[in-house]
Amino acid sequence: MRAETLVIQTAFLGDVVLTTPLLSALAERHGPLDVVTTPPAAALLETHPAVATVIRYDKRGADGGVAGLWRLGRRLRARRYARAYLPHGSWRSAGLALLAGAPERTGFADSAAAVTYTTRVAPLQDGHQVERLLRLAGPLGGAVPPVSLGLTPADRMAGERWLNQRGLAPGFIAFAPGSIWGTKRWPYYAALAAAVDRPIVVLGGADDVALASEILLAAPGRAHSAAGTVDLRVAAALVELAAVLVTNDSAPLHLATAVGTPVVAVFGPTVPAFSFGPRGPRDLVVEHDELPCRPCSSHGPRVCPLGHHRCMRELSVERVGAAVAAVTGAEVRGAIRSGH
Ligand code: SF4
Repeated sequence: MRAETLVIQTAFLGDVVLTTPLLSALAERHGPLDVVTTPPAAALLETHPAVATVIRYDKRGADGGVAGLWRLGRRLRARRYARAYLPHGSWRSAGLALLAGAPERTGFADSAAAVTYTTRVAPLQDGHQVERLLRLAGPLGGAVPPVSLGLTPADRMAGERWLNQRGLAPGFIAFAPGSIWGTKRWPYYAALAAAVDRPIVVLGGADDVALASEILLAAPGRAHSAAGTVDLRVAAALVELAAVLVTNDSAPLHLATAVGTPVVAVFGPTVPAFSFGPRGPRDLVVEHDELPCRPCSSHGPRVCPLGHHRCMRELSVERVGAAVAAVTGAEVRGAIRSGH
């Protein structure tokens, strides 16, 4: 059956994952939706139960520029959507909705391109990003849908196979040491790997291979890397099998939320109050409580503008290790000490 509703969400991967409750709420009302999103997020969403078709938009690659926008707009127009939802407030998303010819276009009133929408929704001034995005759906008839991925049995089998091939069992500690923004990377994952008593699986993309190598060197035979070698769906399946994910304020945090695995989330230049913090019952945040320069930007700068990067450097292995021990019961050498 042809979807009548289009959602255009081309933000970062973590934002797309946090958009899944909105997708579920809209699908409940309008039936399965088509979603325009980035190639990495497309791979994650293609089996989501709320989604009929995922349409890839490689806005920084093959579909870049006005020509790419125009081409995709023409493809969308052929699908004759009745309505489009625009959780991402950019002019590019608005342009796609206009080119698609969707007569109803709903987005946030404070978006850059709000003038192009037919319905402008007042944004929440605070609260978690899930609830902020859900505002676009209007009042919900039932409970708030969960953040979810729609992993398949094949994804889970691939995750289990990856573990079996290395003689590992569920209950390991997962590390996601990477981030696009340098200042959001906690610098002591390798030292933490040396201090814990459990197997470790390092997750990440091709850019994180060097970080993973440091961790493997610190815990030889006990740490294993999937960075750059498994796709996002299998990475999410591995997170699902972990006892805990230790992560920065980055997309893997939200993957863990989606699969129900607790996190120890290390926040440096950003703060959970920016609406992207973890909030599961066993999740823990480790952050610097006494640094006047925090937070210093909404995403986290590539390098510390003050040059010292104290927001991360002063979060000790002992503090993060204590959080890991509290969530998992794992032994972590030195984790009983606290402070910087
Ligand atoms: S300015 Fe402060 S919060 Fe920002 S990166 Fe540097 S130490 Fe961290």
